[in-house]
Amino acid sequence: MAKEEAAGSLREKNVKVVFVLGGPGSGKGTQCANIVRDFGFTHLSAGDLLRAEIKSGSENGTMIQNMIKEGKIVPSEVTIRLLEKAMIENGNDKFLIDGFPRNEENRAAFEEVTKIEPEFVLFFDCPEEEMEKRLLNRNQVLSSPHGRDDDNIETIRKRFKVFLESSLPVIEHYYSKAKVRKVDAARSADEVFESVKGIFSSFGPKDS
Ligand code: UDP
Ligand code: MG
Repeated sequence: MAKEEAAGSLREKNVKVVFVLGGPGSGKGTQCANIVRDFGFTHLSAGDLLRAEIKSGSENGTMIQNMIKEGKIVPSEVTIRLLEKAMIENGNDKFLIDGFPRNEENRAAFEEVTKIEPEFVLFFDCPEEEMEKRLLNRNQVLSSPHGRDDDNIETIRKRFKVFLESSLPVIEHYYSKAKVRKVDAARSADEVFESVKGIFSSFGPKDS
């Protein structure tokens, strides 16, 4: 499908998008699974799509792998193409886009290409010490080959830095448009989901 056609079909469908943002280890993936179960959204993790792209042996694979290992942000066109493709192939009209946009350029390019404005941004606010603890723990439980090779202390520190410098400005942008729904993410997953439910209640239960 041509680029313009892809964007057009998503627009025609009036696809609803919620961006799920927060630092590495803030609980985005865990809470997205809960939202999918109760509110009928489809979860698209930009990081998971990029990791799948590496595994598929794509020509960009090595570049993506190196950038992830350094905690750097993969060029927008790569990530946006994967997100757009996943939305079209899936066919749902409600998506949680997790871990994207990671910088202002990602954000502007996504808007430009898809013409989609998010309904709102779900922001998981969590102190760095707590996120670090969770990431290191995750890497211990899911030890190689399942553990992620960016969940080591050097890469984690780089990811925190990129989050503060590049991703927080995206959240600021949406604050200025009154589109941020902030949740205190430094609590148990169940407690966090209680807050999340309140935010999504207007979307109604699944299948309704
Ligand atoms: N990444 C990227 N662009 C994206 C999403 C992810 O470049 O839109 C890369 C980036 O290098 C990031 C890594 O993938 O550090 C892991 O992202 P993921 O969202 O899976 O990690 P999380 O923040 O959830 O721990
Ligand atoms: Mg994640």
